[in-house]
Amino acid sequence: MGKFDHDLLLGIDIGGTAIKAGLFSHAGDLMAQRSISTPALVESGAYAAVNQALTALLAEQGFLRSDIAGIGIDIPGPVREDGSVGFLPNIRLDVEGLKASLAMAFARAVIVVLNDANAATFGELWQGSAKGERSFVFVTLGTGVGGGVVVDGKLVLGKHGAGGEIGHITVNPHETRACGCGRLGCLEEYASATGLVRLYHEACERAGAEARDTSEGAVAVFQALADGDEAARLALSQMCEYLAVAFAHMSCIIDPGAFVIGGGVSASFDVFADELAERFRAHALPMCAETKIVRASLGNKAGIYGSAYQALLATAAEE
Ligand SMILES: [Zn+2]
Repeated sequence: MGKFDHDLLLGIDIGGTAIKAGLFSHAGDLMAQRSISTPALVESGAYAAVNQALTALLAEQGFLRSDIAGIGIDIPGPVREDGSVGFLPNIRLDVEGLKASLAMAFARAVIVVLNDANAATFGELWQGSAKGERSFVFVTLGTGVGGGVVVDGKLVLGKHGAGGEIGHITVNPHETRACGCGRLGCLEEYASATGLVRLYHEACERAGAEARDTSEGAVAVFQALADGDEAARLALSQMCEYLAVAFAHMSCIIDPGAFVIGGGVSASFDVFADELAERFRAHALPMCAETKIVRASLGNKAGIYGSAYQALLATAAEE
């Protein structure tokens, strides 16, 4: 502890219409959290609303703005190694304006910005399923396949910001349908929620069976599986196979201590964990074959944890 009474941290996760904020102790305990509805964060009125809500969150716990040593902000877009922000296609957000406003209100705090997938990765490292690991791979199976890679305690961002683009590892060189990135046979095409649904429909077609309604997404495939549907079983096996191939490739480069799986599809992790581990063992270098494959544990709070952790590292670097 420094010359101030408290060295607290704020983790802020920025979404389209609301932000999630978490107040953390230096040791990583989540002391309080709240969701704050905001207009687009592009002008001073919106920044002031954020400052006010954060100050109220602190006051409820008996703390002041000066108790905050660091603030981490995670955003849905690319952040370069020097902290500068790339193009944000999905959100109206002025990161520099928000940072400047926070810096005025929280004069003592170090403020850092990071990408949301990397924040979730850091969250799992700090207080989640990867706690205690030096190197690990975080994979989110959601609408797409994303994630992050940590090597020796550091996030791998890469020269072009493509470090950790796990969803675009080529796992099927025979594919003819293009991925969103323009290439063929990317992991995301098979292991995302949408990919799993497509595999299911293809399996139904091959078997000449009628597919059930999948408008609810991957949940419908898991329901079909629970009902003993053979096409669903085949689809899930294919998903596991492609994931296992990608994990085996990554093991040859990183040799991580764990693969941590998050995202919507991970809600059904127990259903496919054994098959995934078995297929991974079959593909991996023998010395890596027993690498842990586990479910992420922080859910949608991973981002606020990871943002706070990045802030913690930045305060430590300043001392
Ligand atoms: Zn791709």
